[in-house]
Amino acid sequence: MFTNEYVKRVYAQVEQRDGNQPEFLQAVKEVFESLEPVVAKHPEYEANGVLERLVEPERVVKFRVAWVDDSGAVQVNRGYRIQFNSAIGPYKGGLRFHPTVTESVVKFLGFEQILKNSLTTLPMGGGKGGSDFNPKGRSDAEVMRFCQAFMTELQRHIGQFTDVPAGDINVGGREIGYLFGQYKRIRDEYSGVLTGKGLEFGGSLARTEATGYGLCYYTAEALRVLRNDSFKGKTVAISGSGNVAVFATEKAQELGAKVVTASDSNGYVYDPNGIQLDVVKDIKLNNRGRIKEYADRVPGAEYHEDCKGVWTVKCDIALPCATQNEIDEESAKTLVANGCTVVCEGANMPSTPEAIAVYQDANVLYGPAKAANAGGVAVSGLEMSQNSYRLSWTFEETDAKLKSIMESIVANSLAAAKEYGHEGDLMLGANAAGFVKVANAMVAQGIL
Ligand code: NDP
Repeated sequence: MFTNEYVKRVYAQVEQRDGNQPEFLQAVKEVFESLEPVVAKHPEYEANGVLERLVEPERVVKFRVAWVDDSGAVQVNRGYRIQFNSAIGPYKGGLRFHPTVTESVVKFLGFEQILKNSLTTLPMGGGKGGSDFNPKGRSDAEVMRFCQAFMTELQRHIGQFTDVPAGDINVGGREIGYLFGQYKRIRDEYSGVLTGKGLEFGGSLARTEATGYGLCYYTAEALRVLRNDSFKGKTVAISGSGNVAVFATEKAQELGAKVVTASDSNGYVYDPNGIQLDVVKDIKLNNRGRIKEYADRVPGAEYHEDCKGVWTVKCDIALPCATQNEIDEESAKTLVANGCTVVCEGANMPSTPEAIAVYQDANVLYGPAKAANAGGVAVSGLEMSQNSYRLSWTFEETDAKLKSIMESIVANSLAAAKEYGHEGDLMLGANAAGFVKVANAMVAQGIL
């Protein structure tokens, strides 16, 4: 646990106030453990109450979303937008539509987002939002009516200079289109208020690919610098089959790896010959189907119920790209026992604290989510720039900027880790590097 008195005191306050928010506490604890050497070196942070302010969102918006389904029945969901920290830019972070969305989940995501956005080097504050709406099995018309109802309230709280949401789980191009349309209709304003937009109406090339590609650029750079190694010839296990997983698979294959798994919340497929990505794209992106269908279509592939089983597959590199806490202590031990030496996180907080301890004991190269998956929000930041300029960059230009941002995240994390006495520790380095910029801005702007 903590040794620094300031960190200990603030964490105790968070536990007391938010004891019923387990995911949020988990995220704060992980960050605070890394920040002990940082606050010890910077007494001005304690004098300015930086940690106390960092863990308290600037604003929490929680609202009713009422809509009518195809059968004419009234449905009521909960909507959230947590505007966590605007010290270095407008609030920025995705919207998640999933039945597991609670205030605790949105707060953990928003808190992580503060440091992630800081790491990208772009001027973006931290925020996150979403709803417990489950789009699975809903028609396009129902998804549209839900998005319109959601935006009817959200539009009061966001704006291109205030808060710029994006997608996350179950919020992709279709949902962003409906949300953007409703914002435009109510506000009579055509602005870059959302990112992840369609290319026809202000979206950026390479945004769809950005999180998955960025994850691989980050992993490749960390492997190069820390292990003098690469993706070439490696066997890779990837969980999920959504936006992040699909484009992580694409880039890992391009960099010479063999990706052997894909999963969804029902189960996973193992393809010893290497995942055929066109089949996964057809099932998930075109038909919104289940990953089970892959084994029906590809000879030699196996389907197993229980998505957690994906971590029993032998691999050199694991890239979790589904959801929070998907790798627990047992799965981490299995990965290590099977020879996995690299875990870089595409999903947000996919490893439990016990799993992270297993990686650390086994000297696994561990790339934490807020650094490894920052490519998505980085290109969202580039989409905001292009919207402001009223122009668009080519795919190659944007992709090159993404690659250079991911490489600088590795370099900045390693430099911070060294400065605070933990050379080579990408987790401590990411937390410290992301935090210092935000903390300095908070001190400079006074007590707010
Ligand atoms: P998608 O909705 O496109 O895909 C999510 C994938 O994860 C699906 O295969 C889904 O399966 C699976 N999944 C979701 N919940 C669970 C669960 N409880 N157990 C097992 N599998 C589950 O989302 P994204 O790919 O966009 O997001 C994946 C992760 O990456 C999230 O943690 C998100 O926060 C993070 N992320 C996303 C970014 C982005 O740009 N999109 C940016 C940075 C991070 P099923 O179809 O069965 O639900």
